[in-house]
Amino acid sequence: MSDVAERIRELSTTIPETSCIWWIGSNHSTGYGGVWLNGKVRGAHRVVYELEHGPIPDGFVVRHKCDNRKCINPDHLELGTHRDNANDCINRGRHHLASRTHCPSGHEFNEENTIPYKGARVCRTCKQEANRRSYIKKLKLGKMRRKSSRS
Ligand SMILES: [Zn+2]
Ligand SMILES: [Zn+2]
Repeated sequence: MSDVAERIRELSTTIPETSCIWWIGSNHSTGYGGVWLNGKVRGAHRVVYELEHGPIPDGFVVRHKCDNRKCINPDHLELGTHRDNANDCINRGRHHLASRTHCPSGHEFNEENTIPYKGARVCRTCKQEANRRSYIKKLKLGKMRRKSSRS
């Protein structure tokens, strides 16, 4: 694991309810997490995306499928264009998140699979998976991950 990946992991915390990985390090002026790399600040989600999926092609942006700017879970990130981002803003203004029919991983939000959580909806399948993953991770690490108890 590279230095950057290690640093990012230390500055993030997993939200089991949504399987989001929240960046708790310093923030960019844009509201995205910022990480120092080669002498300049880069978006943490972009860095994570590149570590996981390879370089971001010119003209593309990294978008959040889960709508959480702080999230750096590579599974919740996808490539898009600036135009996609603008369209998203328009769509969200009209329908907001409540109209989403699927979770960021593509599971359907039906009655069975949806857990209401603080005004949002949580995907039961993802939650179970996240719980299982964090359990395995703890076993592997042999210790609890650093957690922010205030969030
Ligand atoms: Zn997320
Ligand atoms: Zn899901």
